[in-house]
Amino acid sequence: MKSITDFPNLPLALLPTPICKLENLSRALGKQIYIKRDDLTGLGLGGNKVRKLEFLLADAKAKGADVVLTAGGPQSNHAALTAACAGKLGMESILVLKKRGVLSGGNLIVDGILGAQVRFVDTDSYDDVYAEMDRLMEALRAQGRTPYFIPVGGSVPVGCLGYVNCALEIAGQAEEMDVHFDAAVSAVGSGGTYAGLTLGAKLFLPGTRSVGIGVCDDPFEAIALELMQKTAALLEAEAPVTKDDIHIRYHTGPGYAQPSMEGCEAVRRLARTEGILADPVYTGKALAGFFRLLEEGYFDGEDTVLFLHTGGAGALFAVEMV
Ligand SMILES: *Cc1c(COP(=O)(O)O)cnc(C)c1O
Repeated sequence: MKSITDFPNLPLALLPTPICKLENLSRALGKQIYIKRDDLTGLGLGGNKVRKLEFLLADAKAKGADVVLTAGGPQSNHAALTAACAGKLGMESILVLKKRGVLSGGNLIVDGILGAQVRFVDTDSYDDVYAEMDRLMEALRAQGRTPYFIPVGGSVPVGCLGYVNCALEIAGQAEEMDVHFDAAVSAVGSGGTYAGLTLGAKLFLPGTRSVGIGVCDDPFEAIALELMQKTAALLEAEAPVTKDDIHIRYHTGPGYAQPSMEGCEAVRRLARTEGILADPVYTGKALAGFFRLLEEGYFDGEDTVLFLHTGGAGALFAVEMV
């Protein structure tokens, strides 16, 4: 198997991100609950995408790219972090966003400050967004530029390496703290974080079950399995990944990016007990799913659980809490 250090990586995030025990929630819920603060990755408003971008933008640089294109919803954390990271590396960014949902405030303010070019496409389908990106890249090449394409969420095998790397980081921290995590819980939005973490857990965190909480109704079991297998192939990992490694539950609420009552309650609960802000689109829903699973006894027999905080603060200033 290859080592993660065999892959080009540009250090962008402040690593390792802290792991802290949530003392008050642990007491209230009768488990040892820890949080991995990937909301504190250090660029822009922080969040999980910086870890993926360390590998994706290293690939972009290696290919001579001078402009990076990515896609998302109007409040995409991934798009804003792509702009932050690309700018730091001296590359321009073009964010091609679906003209749906909240079209001002939040991350759109951040995108503007970061100097990203924002293009809206009036569509419900990413096929149309990708077609527009193809046209833009064609035009850029005709001008002698070298564009680099990153799909929604950066969820391609090279991006997933960021979360394989995170699992390795967690293994080191767990050893240092002398704790064993029986389970790790994370939000699933485009699948790359969960796929990387689950593969990484299989490789570096024996006995840690990786549980994902889907925040939209996409068939993440299949998406995650394919991403895991492709990332494992990239790493030439011997360990076969199978669908038995995948544990995904859903907390979508009324729909992707639409706050749910339970998700917002979870945001308030984390804030009021631990002073930590989650967001109503990803981490709040993941927490709500986690709390629900705890109630259902899903973690019975598992004492120590790590919740991955993936960021998303921008949404707090764009999306209406319910
Ligand atoms: C993108 C994102 C996620 C989901 O990560 P994926 O790799 O897309 O599944 C979770 N939380 C936040 C805040 C995000 O921006």
